[in-house]
Amino acid sequence: MEVDEVDENFDDSFDPSVFQDLLPIYYRRLFPFSLYYKWLRYDDDKQFTNREFSFTLRDDVYIRYQSFKDDEEMKKEVLQRCPVKIDIGSVYNFRPSEQRTASNFHPLTKELAFDIDMTDYDEVRTCCSGADICKKCWPLMTVALKILDRALREDFGFKHLLWVYSGRRGIHCWVCDKQARELTPAARTAIVEYLSLVKGGEFKSKKVYLPETLHPSIKEAHKIIDSYFEDLMLTKQCILDSQENCEKVISMCLDNNAKEYMKNEFGNCQNSKSKWEKIQDIDSIAMHQKTASKSNRNKHFIMEVMLQLCYPRLDINVSKGLHHLLKAPFSVHPKTGRVCVPIDVDKVDEFDPFKIPTISSLCREIDKYDATVREKNESGNGEDVAKVEDYNKTSLSSSIKLFRNFVKNLSSDFDQ
Ligand SMILES: [Zn+2]
Repeated sequence: MEVDEVDENFDDSFDPSVFQDLLPIYYRRLFPFSLYYKWLRYDDDKQFTNREFSFTLRDDVYIRYQSFKDDEEMKKEVLQRCPVKIDIGSVYNFRPSEQRTASNFHPLTKELAFDIDMTDYDEVRTCCSGADICKKCWPLMTVALKILDRALREDFGFKHLLWVYSGRRGIHCWVCDKQARELTPAARTAIVEYLSLVKGGEFKSKKVYLPETLHPSIKEAHKIIDSYFEDLMLTKQCILDSQENCEKVISMCLDNNAKEYMKNEFGNCQNSKSKWEKIQDIDSIAMHQKTASKSNRNKHFIMEVMLQLCYPRLDINVSKGLHHLLKAPFSVHPKTGRVCVPIDVDKVDEFDPFKIPTISSLCREIDKYDATVREKNESGNGEDVAKVEDYNKTSLSSSIKLFRNFVKNLSSDFDQ
């Protein structure tokens, strides 16, 4: 990351040294325990009581198999332990807290979960790497969300998808439909494979091979990528500015004439956009020549490049089985202080990870609100401060509202 970008993105409202001091306030006044209970109990108390939670305490002490009778008990335990991180695991056949004495203790159900992490995009972003994100690469997450959201709803018929910002460099999706929660590991693996297109490790140059006849899901994914591609990959990422990336794209081509054409033409191009325009010529050249130069193997070359650059890169281990735990929504990321808030799919283009409230900014907002009300009370024209829910005093209120709507939609299904 460039030095001048650090200033722009650096969140000065969060000081990691105060994290431990603010956590008890956050859990006591802001964490939505009762909505959590409504969410995770679904239509049956056992779904909640037999659910595993794990806590990461300060100094990296990790305790698994926590389980709670209800939201009251969960809140009590969380306040007592004050975990720096809460993870959610599966629903078991016994209460996880009693797993030592239970025989044949095993997981029964779990949301189908997806984890997309920007670190898996390092080979297709030019702006930053590793845990860093910026405004130039974040739209890769937007594209990934839109592609997966569409596929999960339209191809699989799932309705209850909770998208959450991971607090730092990625996004999670919790598919909460009953059919999704009851999927076997084999069925989960099949779904993940259906949704994995970019294959092969670091040293493989061509990672997307499309068959001659395209699956409708691929066409839909391509449509979404196409609407972002120029701005994201050419203008923001300038993906073809470097010689190295040009060579990578050329090596993905399976047609020698087209390869030669790109090698010759790229040298005359000023920027990524003009190089991409040359790539578009490949189709028309092949069409005019009506020769074998546009062989079937290379039929979808342009689409393959676009998909390789922008199709979602999933952490498949999170989705495959029932044993993987995933960070709980509304946790606070200990490094950034940002809250893992739900993402409104209808407004995903507006989602800005750098504007997400931090634990420090939220505590300040509560203090400020309370101070203003106190002043008004003292002057005799105030309202009673206790009447307002704490989250409504802060910028977390819209996230809580989104979460409440999600839970409401979920439970409306049980009433039918
Ligand atoms: Zn970036």
